[in-house]
Amino acid sequence: MPHLGHLIHVVAAAALTWLPVLFFGLICYLLWRTVQMMPRVKPAQLRTESSASVSWSDVAGAEEAKAELLEVVDFLRHPKRFERLGARVPKGILLYGPPGTGKTLLAKAVANESGAAFYSQSASAFVEMFAGLGASRIRRLFKEARKHAPSIVFIDELDAVGAARTGHGFNREQDQTLNQLLVELDGFGVTDQVVVMGASNRLQDLDPALLRPGRFDRQMLVAPPDLAGREEILQVHTRGKPLAADVDLSLIARQTAGLTGADLANICNEAAIFAGRQQLQYIRHVDFENAMERVVAGLQQRRVVTEKEKRILAYHEGGHALMSHLMGDALPVQKVTIVSRGQALGYTLNLPAEDRYLHTKEELVDMMTIYLAGRAAEQVVFGRVTNGAANDLEKATELAREMVFEFGMSEIVTSRTMRADNYSLSEETKRLRDQEQARLTDEAYDEAIRLLNKHRGALDRLAGALLEKETLVRDEIEALVADLEPESHASETVGTVRAVAAD
Ligand code: ADP
Ligand code: MG
Ligand code: ZN
Repeated sequence: MPHLGHLIHVVAAAALTWLPVLFFGLICYLLWRTVQMMPRVKPAQLRTESSASVSWSDVAGAEEAKAELLEVVDFLRHPKRFERLGARVPKGILLYGPPGTGKTLLAKAVANESGAAFYSQSASAFVEMFAGLGASRIRRLFKEARKHAPSIVFIDELDAVGAARTGHGFNREQDQTLNQLLVELDGFGVTDQVVVMGASNRLQDLDPALLRPGRFDRQMLVAPPDLAGREEILQVHTRGKPLAADVDLSLIARQTAGLTGADLANICNEAAIFAGRQQLQYIRHVDFENAMERVVAGLQQRRVVTEKEKRILAYHEGGHALMSHLMGDALPVQKVTIVSRGQALGYTLNLPAEDRYLHTKEELVDMMTIYLAGRAAEQVVFGRVTNGAANDLEKATELAREMVFEFGMSEIVTSRTMRADNYSLSEETKRLRDQEQARLTDEAYDEAIRLLNKHRGALDRLAGALLEKETLVRDEIEALVADLEPESHASETVGTVRAVAAD
């Protein structure tokens, strides 16, 4: 059957020629479909659903930012009132501050209180996208917002696209997205009732182009809460939770200096979990204390510590505790323990009794000496050091860096900063600067060694008590070291000055 054979041959040849073409066509079609579908974000997806539930009363402590944002709410509610007077309301508002201070929460509250349409996107979502998609999302976001004005566009985690371009790891895609954002920010008319809000953890890292006039030119610091703020936040997060009569929120607030709103929310939740696990009807103060320790020191983990390790730990933590006592007010010790929690094998809980923004150079040196006293105690007692002090060394190094680089607290300069990003410094100045930083920590370490040798008896008492009880609270520590005279370098402390913000 020659004919059939011939036919098969012809069909096969045709298939071989056309199949790749067909295949290629199919791929092209699929790609086209994908690209068509991707940028089509429905407005509903752009909206943050949860914003509806956040009100002003849910945000506590951030009084300054709240007061400023009230203006924005007012503008969005009564735009005519401002237009009539020719007032130009800031269009680009940037909330910045450490993670967990309530920036996202504030933006949601503004949206809810102003009744404006709220378009929210996290910039980190743009970064992972296909080429050009980040930019087209931004375009779409602003188009929707204009259409539904008065409205708010909120771009969270702005650092993700707005990181300064000088850094490495910056790609073309991020650049496109950032450029599109700049175009949109510049494209607003005076009468557009669209307010753009952004949130970022660090102002310094943002591309300066974003901060120019007409863009994110109104910047608000959202700082960790002060004492009163912390108490308010605790109240917000215990609202509707059954509390036992002994719960003292103001005491908890006093013991949580430095923690953010998110940490405090976490503590309230953990406390409820502690109580729930014991099938209690009410949350007791002790549940909050447990929660606080858990949040501060990481999750409690069971792990075996050998007797030898325990002795080293007892002297290490005893060294911190003794030095805290000797240094007086710098960092009063609340509690010391060799019970391991999370990463830390043991820890000394130093919580300042009051919020402080100003510290003298001498107090900072005192703090550094306290940080380094753990390792110094190991050296004094065992003649050897362990890897258990890494975290302490980091804190001391950072403090010394701040003192020399930023606070002008060195022997070589007293009235200007020598930050790492200051390129006008000569190589020689930089060398001296780094030397100064090392000198500060070295001297603090030597001082710690000297004092621990001098008060070796007290150190032995503290370590002995720690080995026996594992945890010592403030009064027990005081009783063991009551006879010692303070050795602090800071003769008097500077009072609290609230007007100075931490920056
Ligand atoms: P940020 O955006 O600054 O990182 P978030 O707004 O995401 O912080 O805060 C996380 C959570 O922490 C909030 O949902 C809220 O439960 C709690 N929180 C943070 N700050 C405050 C605050 N000032 N008042 C009340 N709750 C807060
Ligand atoms: Mg946030
Ligand atoms: Zn330590």
